[in-house]
Amino acid sequence: MAKQTPPSRNLWLATAALGGLLLAERLWPKRTRVAEEPARTGRNLALGALNLAVVAGVQAPLARQLATRVARERLGIAQQLPAPLRDLAAMLLLDWSMYHWHVATHRVPLLWRLHLVHHIDRDMDASTALRFHVVDMALSVPLRLAQVRLLGVSPRALALWEGFFMASVLFHHADLDLPFDAPLSLVLTTPGMHDIHHRADTASLGSNYSAGLSLWDRLHGTFADSAPAVPIGVPGQGDPALGGLLALPLTAVAD
Ligand SMILES: [Zn+2]
Repeated sequence: MAKQTPPSRNLWLATAALGGLLLAERLWPKRTRVAEEPARTGRNLALGALNLAVVAGVQAPLARQLATRVARERLGIAQQLPAPLRDLAAMLLLDWSMYHWHVATHRVPLLWRLHLVHHIDRDMDASTALRFHVVDMALSVPLRLAQVRLLGVSPRALALWEGFFMASVLFHHADLDLPFDAPLSLVLTTPGMHDIHHRADTASLGSNYSAGLSLWDRLHGTFADSAPAVPIGVPGQGDPALGGLLALPLTAVAD
């Protein structure tokens, strides 16, 4: 049986990765910053703390428990495959389904009101990766459970993919000007690729939805390699204080 990774170790690794990226962004920035600091980073970290409580306290233990049953009883799509293929298939299916969930958060008006909290950040850096509405994160609990059950995700596949996905999300939000961004984007979602997704331009917002492997955008025709020179954000939307962000799904004129 696979040894479980202690959640506290993942948390330390994520904190170290976030710290390293925030430092690298100061050394090799891609964009000129416009928002007032430290208020903006403070808002992002406060939302991140709320989201961490939901993920670590509710989502992770429930998903791990369900994944154990899925592997034991061989439930879901990947578990019907030969043993050597199961975990790889499960991780690819998880990554692909997250692409579709991200598309849904842009196209379903109610989900877009929640996802808007992430997109109206006027600068983008690794702290943007933590900035989601807590209801958005709460919805990720039934989403993850449905993924684990239907796709047939084992505890090992879940732990490996979640580690990869978390690292990828921190990385592609980073304010980094990488010389190898374009070739790397053939495989992974890069900061350059995701910069386009955060531009305040309707066509750009509708491109580059991938968050793990970059393959999905190419497969579904949503890949873009350039955007007009407009700011980071959403047309017509400012970035309110923390209380305003939490109330935003109710107050935003966004549909
Ligand atoms: Zn988005």
